[in-house]
Parts: sequence; C-alpha cells; structure tokens
Amino acid sequence: MKVCVVGTGYVGLTTGVSLAFLGHEVTCVDLDQAKVDMLRGGKCPIYEPGMEDLLAEAAQNLTFTTSYEEAVPGADVVFVAVQTPSAPDGSPDLRYLRGAAESVAHALHHDFTVVVNKSTVPIGSGNWVDAILRDSFATREDRPEGVEFAVASNPEFLREGNAIADTLYPDRIVIGSDNPRSLEVLNRLYRPIINQTFTPPTFMPRPEDANAVPLVSTDLASAELIKYAANAFLALKISYANEIGQLAAKVGADITEVARGMGLDQRIGSRFLQPGVGWGGSCFGKDTKALIATASEYNLEMPIVKAARDVNSRQRAIAVERLQDELRILKGRKIGLLGLAFKPNTDDLRDAPALDIANSLLARGARVKLHDPVASERFRAEQPELAPYLSATIDDLFADCDAVVLVTEWAQYLELDWSKFIGLMRNPVVLDGRHVLDPERMRRIGYKYLAVAR
Ligand code: NAD
Repeated sequence: MKVCVVGTGYVGLTTGVSLAFLGHEVTCVDLDQAKVDMLRGGKCPIYEPGMEDLLAEAAQNLTFTTSYEEAVPGADVVFVAVQTPSAPDGSPDLRYLRGAAESVAHALHHDFTVVVNKSTVPIGSGNWVDAILRDSFATREDRPEGVEFAVASNPEFLREGNAIADTLYPDRIVIGSDNPRSLEVLNRLYRPIINQTFTPPTFMPRPEDANAVPLVSTDLASAELIKYAANAFLALKISYANEIGQLAAKVGADITEVARGMGLDQRIGSRFLQPGVGWGGSCFGKDTKALIATASEYNLEMPIVKAARDVNSRQRAIAVERLQDELRILKGRKIGLLGLAFKPNTDDLRDAPALDIANSLLARGARVKLHDPVASERFRAEQPELAPYLSATIDDLFADCDAVVLVTEWAQYLELDWSKFIGLMRNPVVLDGRHVLDPERMRRIGYKYLAVAR
C-alpha cells in the first residue's frame, strides 16, 4: 500500500521505516530540512538501536521529503506523528497537529485516504482533525473531484530504545475509527504484523515467543482513551512502587525483595515496579497531565492519576534529600550524575529526572558534574546552561566528587569496575537512583551506599 508519514521523530520514523521494511511504499515528510537531509543520507537523527540498519534494509521502499505535495497524493494512509507537547495549562499543545492536518488537506488527491492520528492526542481530537481537514479542503481552489477521506486513531505504544521490536512484535495493535472502511484499510496495512508473516530484519530475529498480534479494532474515542489509560496506568504502577519504597525504607524492609514478591503474582506482573528517581520522558508526564485536563472538561477529577504525578515529582526531590542527609552541607560539594537521558538506550532528554536533580543541586549551592554515554551531544544543544558541567570521561566525573548518583541505568554504568574509581573521589558516596547496584558489593569496595528507597 502507499503510505505517507508526517513527522520523522521517534514515532514517525519508526512507523515509516518499519512499514517500508514490510513492503509498503512509504514517503516520510518533515518540516525539518536538516533531519530530512540526514535521513536521505541513511543517517538516523535520533539514537535508536537498529534504526540505521532497518533504514538500509527498507531503503528501496522509502522516500524522505519536506514537500507534502510529494508525500500525500496517492497515499492510501497518511499517519500524523508530530509532537504534542504540554501547553502551560497542562493540556496538549495541538498546533503541530493542526498545521499537519491543514497541510495534508491541501495535498489530498486520492480517491480514499485514511488520515491516522498516531500522535498521542486528547480524546475528541479525531473529530477535531476531521473538522480541520474538511474546512481546509473546502477552501482549496484546486479541489479535486472524488476525493474522500476519513480519520482514524492508531495510538503508538513503542518504547524508545526498543522501538523497532515494539513495532514489529507489539503486544497489540489498536485502531479506532467511526468509518468502517478506514478500519478495513488499516487492518490490511498491518496484516503482516498481525499474522507475523514477514521475514524478520537480518539483525533482529523474531523472538521465540512472538505470536499473532491481537488487533483491537474499535471506535475513535475508545482508541484515543486506550492510549491515555495505558500510559497513566504504567506511570501509576511505578509511582506505587515508589510510594511503597518510601514506607519500606522507614520500616527497614528491602523494596527490591518486596517488588519481586509482588511482581511474581501474575495479576500484578514484575515490570514497572522498579523503585527509584521515577519516570521521565516525553510521554508519562505530558499524558497524565492531559488526561487530568480532559477529565476536568467533564467536571471529573482523576485523584489516582494526580497522586501518581505527585509521588513521581517527590522522588526526584528525595534523591537530593538523601544526599543532603548524608553530606549535611550541599554548598560547595561536587556531585556527579551518571546518566542524563530519561532512560537507557535513548538520547531523549525530555523531562529527564537528571535535569531536575542537577538544577536542584545547583540551586542549593552544590557543583554538579554530568555524564551520559549517548545523550551528551543532544544535552549540549538542548541544555546550554547545564552544558558547562558535562564531563568528557567517567574518570573526570568521579574526580574529587563528594557523591556520585546513578540516575540512568545504562548498561555501561552497571558494568563499570567501580573499584577503579573510588580512589578518585573525595568522599566515596554513591546514591543508587535506580536500585540496580548490588549494595553488598558496593560496600565491600568501600563505598557508602545509599539508595532512594533504602
Ligand atoms: P518528535 O518531537 O520526536 O517528532 C515530531 C516530528 O514532527 C519532528 O521531527 C518535527 O519536525 C515534525 N513536525 C512537526 N510539525 C510538523 C508538520 N506540520 N509537518 C511535518 N513534520 C512536522 O516526537 P515523538 O517523540 O515522535 O512523538 C510524536 C507523538 O507520538 C507525540 O504525540 C507523542 O506523545 C507520541 N508518542 C511518543 C512516544 C515516544 O516514545 N517518543 C511513544 C508513543 C507515543
């Protein structure tokens, strides 16, 4: 099928490249000329494991452009995957979505096109996009005859760092529309994934447990709500583990054991029960805020979701408090933060806990040193005020530090020979912000081991 993808960020790029890999003819359109140039040269503008390999394997079915005129006409499906950041009042800022919908409407030429919201958009946005498409299309002087279109929702559940596997081997695919023909088109588009009939990429064999993928084919509003409900649930699961973690620390229980004991119950499951400095990234914060904002339009409160947010922001503050409790005086102290990306295997810094922790330490008069194996370059560009604190090497980060905080559990940090660095520190304190280091081992080496929930 012919597919257009609007936006080549984490989601749009993964969608476009994966669909091209499956044999669809895909054109990706982005306003950012620099991104398009990189992608044309086979380079990936984001850090996403495997993406450049998949780009190479899908190249013959894939085009990148800044022109909607090149991308939209003839497409059976147009995915809109632009950013939807939070506006100051917490509701999603939909200006990119509006811009994309207007541009799509001005370029439609096909007899039937499904315009799919892949961005995470508030409930009701499908209707809103439909209205924009119709209004914009109606204003076209060159309006072609016989053009039909309908809006669908196809929320995205990929995890950065695992985006390709999550797309080719997802837990489920959700499609929603009030137009049956759209659902049928999307069903056809995703058949190779649903039935797992494609040959896997050479660099990523099909996981042994990969089965046929359940398809949830539903109405527009339900599809839109599924995404928010799922994200908020994951966020509150982490917050719950963190809330229990604080009690565990008080009563002298080991939160890692508690989480393990809980997670083995299949009704609960072990994932997203890891205590630590909490969630970050572009989705959980924004989407929980948007869910609360949507509910308030209907005079509904979301007390559980609100509490999950409060607990999460408290976790970042607790990390700083733990350091203060240990060092007593933070002024003039040198604190090293290991990891800046909001999680391992991505260079995404949006709402990363490290940013809050660094700023809070600086506000208290401490000096910070920062390191990330992958995200430093992006950090320099996006956080110019904090960029002078970057350390080029891990040795440099540890040198003269009064404490080091493991903020992001990159494999490189877990595999460090920690005994090599202790001698560089002024004060061998380590705060495990993710509960991933072995406390006994760290103590044996000579560190004063602290953790967020210990
Ligand atoms: P992103 O910021 O990485 O990418 C958005 C891209 O859209 C950018 O390249 C931008 O230049 C482009 N763009 C903006 N306006 C445009 C326009 N009018 N025409 C063409 N291109 C335009 O964003 P992302 O992380 O990929 O997120 C996209 C959406 O998917 C968001 O709604 C997000 O909430 C949702 N989502 C993200 C993730 C994730 O892990 N990143 C997961 C699930 C859902």
